[in-house]
Amino acid sequence: MVVGLGPGNRDSFTAEALTAIREAQVVVGYHTYLNLIPDLIEGKEMVATPMRGEVERARQAVELAAAGKTVAVVSSGDPGIYGMAGIIIEVAGGRVPVKVIPGVTAASAAAASLGAPLMHDFAVISLSDLLTPWETILKRLEMAAAGDFVIVLYNPRSHGRPNHINTARDIMLKYKAPATPVGIVRQARRGQEERTITTLDRMLDVEIDMLTTVIIGNSQTRVAGKYMLTPRGYHL
Ligand code: SAH
Repeated sequence: MVVGLGPGNRDSFTAEALTAIREAQVVVGYHTYLNLIPDLIEGKEMVATPMRGEVERARQAVELAAAGKTVAVVSSGDPGIYGMAGIIIEVAGGRVPVKVIPGVTAASAAAASLGAPLMHDFAVISLSDLLTPWETILKRLEMAAAGDFVIVLYNPRSHGRPNHINTARDIMLKYKAPATPVGIVRQARRGQEERTITTLDRMLDVEIDMLTTVIIGNSQTRVAGKYMLTPRGYHL
């Protein structure tokens, strides 16, 4: 099983994810995620791996499952969105059945915090070029901005790529007005959530790091009181 833990604390786990972890004999995941659920994994076999150890984590999980164990591979947010689901299916190669249990993805959590920015067509783009060529990311940013999508950015900034967010913002400004609302949510649903609603021309004044999701509005998005709102199109 590949289990999504949601974006933050226990309140944002689904009931299905909780049950899956409780039923597992072995829990596999990145240290930080396992540390979030000490009570759930107590007494179980655990395989904790470092952040970049996805391939190794997947191989170990598949080996354990092939040996007859019930294995839960935990992943933050939704495991099928930049998570572990894909690599588990690839490594399993049909040898063991894989069940994917969805979770609340960071885009949903950030949107809920901001109000209703994703009421219309949106695109999610990760600025991480670890597994995707930077040219591909640039092309997707251009196309999504040209298409007037609301754009959700994951992995917006890391030490290795501090300026990707600046480049992304500059591409947005080619197609979107400087006053376009931008919502920035850090540590959504983790108890220290920070949320800011700003504009495209001022967004770089806000602290943005790897624990942040950035939502850039479309041409209809506006600020309504404390909320960021993309109207669905109803006539009121
Ligand atoms: N599988 C995860 C996404 C992994 S990519 C999911 O479905 O949510 C990691 C990126 O997700 C981070 O760089 C950040 O942009 C975003 N993210 C994950 N958790 C977050 C949180 N609690 N608050 C804000 N952004 C978050």
